[in-house]
Amino acid sequence: MIQHEIKPVYDKTSRILILGSFPSVKSREAGFFYHHQQNRFWKVLAALADAELPATIEEKKEFLLFHKIAVYDVIASCDIVGSSDSSITNVVPSDIKAIIEKSSITKIYLNGNKAYELYEKYQKKQLEEEGIVIEAVKLPSTSPANAGSSLENLIKAWSVIRKEIYRPMKPLDPELFHALFHWYEHHARILPWRENPTPYRVWISEIMLQQTRVEAVKPYYDRFMEALPTIEDLANVEDEVLMKLWEGLGYYNRARNLKKAAKIVVEQYGGYMPADYEKLLELPGIGEYTAGAIASIAYGIDVPAVDGNVLRVITRVMEWYEDILKPKTKKEITERLQQWLVIGKSREINQALMELGAIVCVPNGKPHCDQCPWDTRCLAYKRDQIEQIPVKTPKKERRKEKKTVFLLEYQGKFAVQKRAEKGLLSGLWEFPNEEEDLTEELIENWLLEHGITEYQVMDQYRGKHIFSHVEWHMKGWKVNVSQEPKDFIWITKEEMEQEYAIPAAFDWLKKEI
Ligand code: SF4
Repeated sequence: MIQHEIKPVYDKTSRILILGSFPSVKSREAGFFYHHQQNRFWKVLAALADAELPATIEEKKEFLLFHKIAVYDVIASCDIVGSSDSSITNVVPSDIKAIIEKSSITKIYLNGNKAYELYEKYQKKQLEEEGIVIEAVKLPSTSPANAGSSLENLIKAWSVIRKEIYRPMKPLDPELFHALFHWYEHHARILPWRENPTPYRVWISEIMLQQTRVEAVKPYYDRFMEALPTIEDLANVEDEVLMKLWEGLGYYNRARNLKKAAKIVVEQYGGYMPADYEKLLELPGIGEYTAGAIASIAYGIDVPAVDGNVLRVITRVMEWYEDILKPKTKKEITERLQQWLVIGKSREINQALMELGAIVCVPNGKPHCDQCPWDTRCLAYKRDQIEQIPVKTPKKERRKEKKTVFLLEYQGKFAVQKRAEKGLLSGLWEFPNEEEDLTEELIENWLLEHGITEYQVMDQYRGKHIFSHVEWHMKGWKVNVSQEPKDFIWITKEEMEQEYAIPAAFDWLKKEI
């Protein structure tokens, strides 16, 4: 019985498991696997990881762990006659279940036909018995026995694992920045907040742009700046006026935080936004991206501002397969950008990167690579990976909620009510509604409960609104009533337009007034 010497290499971060088969007398020794000159395994992996070829056994083990690759032998022990693979008997397969359970393995790759054959015969069954279903992919063997395949062809065939190998980001070539500046100078869009980019103007624009398209933000931004031209005006604005200015932009907490932060700026900083990244971060509603944008664009401080646009551009240019929705990916890109920032140029770099992501390396649909200043250096473009990058884990499905909404009219006035002070759309106005799809009988009961005995149903509508985590599927009933129940506030169409902030989720019914 031959005991195989090769020990598994893995840790809890390993993403893929490569299984080799080393049954023969010679190759079962660890020295063969790690050192044989004609074993092209290491050359192939080093090429795919864009790394130096590791030399010693220790370096090779470190290399595997660093790039999140696990390696093991399919066989733990066997009997073998001579050196022929075909004469193996009494095979005891290696226990790969333990590796899968203690790591982050999502796929198994088999190094060559023999490994695949043995895996299919022994381990696959064992895993299935344990209820573990894991994809296994056969790759051409890197062993000297596979002399027909050149190193070049092996690298090509093995490139399917490239996206699963962790590769640290390399510094961006300074020439890339020059090309980017040149492009930005000639292609930047003219936007209201780019003229006279004071900290206040940059701040308001960045908060508005967080969930809304540039074109949609423009009129809101102009109106907001006209009504509240200074931080003091924002700090002292009436809540109702603020909500009205924000009406239609959604995510109303953003507006509430603006006012809270403005008060702090007035009380603690004499009405001037602090020219300090860390202090900006302490203000309500200001996260790393917004603090970076204000600090760099308004004050010229050398800090990165990493939003979804920047993440997409950088991961594509570097052909980086890390999930951009994970905080650690954003952290690593932010740290890298911090190192790459050309001193005194972060204002231009940040804006140019965001602009490139917004209008060339676009989020939806095909990027316009033919218009990109980085087209000759972008690895994702070169390797035809733009559809694979950026990697994003699928979001959880949104919860669907049904609602019945009432548009009650009494002598030219309409019923509204205030939403609760906590939760979704808190403190805003809405049409009376119930959190279910009411039948006609239940609608009658609802009206009676609110003291409405005489009424006429005029029409029925349907509406849908999508929030980030929930969808409202609504049925609306327009009902003319013959009295004015006290449960609601009754307002005219003009009052609704001028004083009462009704969120966009009810626009479909509001337009029926
Ligand atoms: S070449 Fe294409 S994929 Fe690469 S950064 Fe430019 S637009 Fe994006």
